[in-house]
Amino acid sequence: LVSREHHPARSVIRVGGVPIGPDTMSMIAGPCAVETPEQTLEAALMAKAAGASLLRGGAFKPRTSPYSYQGLGEAGLRILADVRAETGLPVVTEVIDPGSVDMVASYADMLQVGARNMQNFALLQAVGSAGKPVLLKRGFSATIEEWLSAAEYIAQRGNLDIVLCERGIRTFETSTRNTLDISAVPVAQRLSHLPVIVDPSHSGGRRDLVLPLTRAAIAVGADGLIIDVHPQPKVALCDGDQALMNSDLKEIADIVSLLSPLM
Ligand code: PEP
Repeated sequence: LVSREHHPARSVIRVGGVPIGPDTMSMIAGPCAVETPEQTLEAALMAKAAGASLLRGGAFKPRTSPYSYQGLGEAGLRILADVRAETGLPVVTEVIDPGSVDMVASYADMLQVGARNMQNFALLQAVGSAGKPVLLKRGFSATIEEWLSAAEYIAQRGNLDIVLCERGIRTFETSTRNTLDISAVPVAQRLSHLPVIVDPSHSGGRRDLVLPLTRAAIAVGADGLIIDVHPQPKVALCDGDQALMNSDLKEIADIVSLLSPLM
């Protein structure tokens, strides 16, 4: 269902009216995790000023350590809904277990399945039945074929509104958190009709790499970006090292506004 063999034309997926696909450069941006109403609103306003058309923010955080910040849960989803009402930005947020898919879907415009859950087949089937577009991140040890098979689980439930996200894979390299597999973008676009976006924040795990990796993503023809921003990364409860702050956003805004007329 997700293969170009059966569907040669590349798909455009609409999230709250915002198109993601060929001939667009949609940016999803916002905090890694929802912490407070003020922090989320401030991050959303930063994202919007930088050209983002969708707001990201995790209320359920799938952290490697159980001692790391786990998110606000449903209270975080309520904050995201309030910030959407204030800014007009549709909400992209992660769901981590099949039992909470309907609840998360009642607040979200797009359901994110994170790298750690890419092969959680019960979750994939549940988001496939939820009636909302899905952002499917590539698992950090998953091949492109496994990633596309995961998308197939969602599609099999009748939901073809899927966007693939390359977010870096695990390699022997330790100077970056993950290695952005930039070739995965054109490879996945050739194999599948689904849009492919890039997460330059989680790939490198470093603020100084977000802009170069963004340029790389655009150069290979990614259909969009998902970027972490935070008003005060130093005190962020999650992944502050990779979050862009206000002073970093001008260059991202310039890139996005330069690209928009071309698309
Ligand atoms: C995220 O986007 O919040 C996240 C946890 O990303 P990943 O699943 O790619 O690690």
